[in-house]
Amino acid sequence: MPILSSNTKNNFEVDLTNIEGDGNFPCPKCGLFISPDDLTTKVYTILSIEGKDDNPTSMVIQCNKCKSIINLNGFDV
Ligand SMILES: [Zn+2]
Repeated sequence: MPILSSNTKNNFEVDLTNIEGDGNFPCPKCGLFISPDDLTTKVYTILSIEGKDDNPTSMVIQCNKCKSIINLNGFDV
């Protein structure tokens, strides 16, 4: 019976209220620097946004490098 690594999970949660400064954070999996304010989607792809367009309350993004799904919570606008 094959033994699967417990590290196959590709879904992370990031609470922005725990992040100091301008809200940038490294991807939990690959460490790629992600800025939630950068909407050019060069480093990540926005999968869904909760709340108003200009005042999101949470966001689901996918890292363009490692394809991890990252759930962003705690937007403070
Ligand atoms: Zn990544």
